[in-house]
Amino acid sequence: MFFSGETVVAKKIGRKIDGYGNRGRWSPEPGKAKTAYCGVCGKQMNVERNVLGATSWAESMGHGKHFHDSFTCPNLNKKWHEKIVNLKMEAHNTVSYKIKKILEEEILEILEANAVR
Ligand SMILES: [Zn+2]
Repeated sequence: MFFSGETVVAKKIGRKIDGYGNRGRWSPEPGKAKTAYCGVCGKQMNVERNVLGATSWAESMGHGKHFHDSFTCPNLNKKWHEKIVNLKMEAHNTVSYKIKKILEEEILEILEANAVR
């Protein structure tokens, strides 16, 4: 069966950031994860193993680097992907249950229109 990221994301929305709650980018220790799914659109992410580099802004500023696996979502640079990230942040930040629901609906609409077909 074709992987349905939509369902996965629908389940994840509203939850706190977990192992899959990434923003389309994830840099765990080498070999820690075989596969990873995008926390934004639910797609299986591409992986580059044993990359030497910085995984955070602070690390790059300090010219630090270490080996890691670099997972990135194939949709990472798409505009709608970025929009979902922002909508998710808003949904996470609002105290209003109603606004949260509206934001979640919009996220699902965007996913239906773009990500998983
Ligand atoms: Zn994604």
